Amino acid sequence: MILGQLDKSYVLASETSALNLVKARALREVEPGEILVIEGSRMKSLKPFKPVERLARCVFEQIYFARPDSNIFGRNVQAARRDLGRALAKEMRGIAADIVVPVPDSGVAAALGFSDESRIPFEMALVRSHYVSRTFIKPTQELRDLAAELKLAPVIETLKGKRIVLIDDSIVRGTTSRKITKSLRAAGVREIHLAVSSPPIVSPCYYGIDTPRSGELIANRNSLEEIRKFLEVDSLHYLSLEGMLEAAGGGDSSGYCTACFTKIYPTPISDYQAPRSQQIT
Ligand code: SF4
Repeated sequence: MILGQLDKSYVLASETSALNLVKARALREVEPGEILVIEGSRMKSLKPFKPVERLARCVFEQIYFARPDSNIFGRNVQAARRDLGRALAKEMRGIAADIVVPVPDSGVAAALGFSDESRIPFEMALVRSHYVSRTFIKPTQELRDLAAELKLAPVIETLKGKRIVLIDDSIVRGTTSRKITKSLRAAGVREIHLAVSSPPIVSPCYYGIDTPRSGELIANRNSLEEIRKFLEVDSLHYLSLEGMLEAAGGGDSSGYCTACFTKIYPTPISDYQAPRSQQIT
């Protein structure tokens, strides 16, 4: 939560972008275990719990969830995503391609960073319809399929005959990515090098991010080569864990939860299984 100020009042929101909207000034993040008591224009901060031994902030906020115009964990999200793209380009140095194409919208900043670093021109060659919401939170596969098809359209004139680096922020089930690569092939793309600005997601989140169960995560049950074949791409690259942490934190890679990439949870996870109704299916 972000604490902000609007005239003499305090305001709270989950992201700074909401504060910008009402012209409030962001003051600071609410600290772990902190209780704020706000009465009129007075505020009291209480810290009744023992201090946290280490922070475990969700790195996925920087990768995908937060809005690019927000500042999260002291960093602008757009800048963090650009840095993720730069880091990816460094790890893929020498890749031969004609254009860098983002999967919009959350892949755009990373693609700009990739393009900056690699000097491969950036092209908005996939156009997103803003009338369809995020696909991975749709309740059924049928709805997700329909949403994916409606959501992104290739710009054939830009793509035909090209070798492209396709940038996405993450791959969850792989079904959306596969639809995109199929539509790119149909548009006449010559080579697709899929580059992901985060490591493979191998484990579910139990901290409130609605990710699928292990068995539904493509990277949980398949090798890199199997995923590459499933997605029908010429090559597949994921950003390394170290590269992601360094880029997301702007040089300070400490204090993040990375459990969905590492299976190392910051708290004990026994045999917890989220009820089906709470999960993406
Ligand atoms: S498991 Fe992944 S999505 Fe969940 S809090 Fe940790 S980093 Fe974020």
